Amino acid sequence: MRIAELLARGRTFSFEFFPPKTDEAQAQLANTITELAPLKPSFFSVTYGAGGSTRTRTRDVVVELARSGVVPPMAHLTCVGHTRDDINLLLGEYKAAGVENILALGGDLPSDPSLAGPSDFHHALDLVEHLREHFDMSIGVAAHPEVHPRSPSRESDRYHLAEKLRRADFAMTQFFFEVQHYERLRDELAALGVHKPIVPGIMPVTNKGQIVKMAQMSGAAIPQWLSDRLAPLEDAADVRRVGVEVATTLGADLLAAGAPGLHFYTLNRSTATREIYANLGLGG
Ligand code: FAD
Repeated sequence: MRIAELLARGRTFSFEFFPPKTDEAQAQLANTITELAPLKPSFFSVTYGAGGSTRTRTRDVVVELARSGVVPPMAHLTCVGHTRDDINLLLGEYKAAGVENILALGGDLPSDPSLAGPSDFHHALDLVEHLREHFDMSIGVAAHPEVHPRSPSRESDRYHLAEKLRRADFAMTQFFFEVQHYERLRDELAALGVHKPIVPGIMPVTNKGQIVKMAQMSGAAIPQWLSDRLAPLEDAADVRRVGVEVATTLGADLLAAGAPGLHFYTLNRSTATREIYANLGLGG
């Protein structure tokens, strides 16, 4: 099932996983998938390690999801560290397994750049154009509501995003904590004549140190009111409770603002996502 078609029918609700590295992590992911599938999500997405460092592991998870036929998968794919032949080989495997959805990304260099091979495509737009020309699939792209960290200006960020979204089917956003960031992004794209669906990404805070690190890497700001709420909390269960509450409010605000769906960053755990889902009265 293609995500473009699902979005045309109505709101989508989706969950993101990363490919596991160990047998234990593999079992954890299998368990999470088993717990989330009954919520009847529109699709699952599977991330791709920086520079292709998880190439086979991502492929294996995506292909297995496609084979099981329960929830359609979307494979993340990056330009960095891939030749045209690498991309064509992987896409051929996806097509053969019945995978119909790709999130086309620029990607980042791995922490040791010498581990990345040569790149034939430099920006996500190059990959989108290649996919459009050679593969019949539904194509999503990344959007950064608070502007991509490498963008020299907001105008430049929106210009390049509009260019790739004109050719793609939909955008999926980096996480953020205030609905205004989403509304502003949507309005700025509309002003550039782009009205494709923009699915907001929601990251429930479950760990204080982790969210600070992830926000720094992705260019998302942790608002003062959220820092103030999290600062006095010592107990992990209290942090998770506040994280679920904040994500529930954001999800409700986004749906009220007309978002075409919600995409949850699960970090391969199901509990927080299931609680938010239940709070929002979704699924089942
Ligand atoms: P691009 O669209 O190429 O943009 C990157 C920068 O280049 C931006 O500043 C843009 O304005 C600029 N730019 C674009 N085109 C041009 C041009 N023609 N000339 C000059 N500047 C230009 N990373 C992973 O490695 N694996 C994943 O699985 C993954 N999943 C993600 C999922 C989501 C929903 C999001 C939001 C991000 C994800 N990322 C992932 C991170 C992403 O790869 C990084 O943010 C990366 O640095 C940029 O990717 P992009 O697709 O936005 O790139």
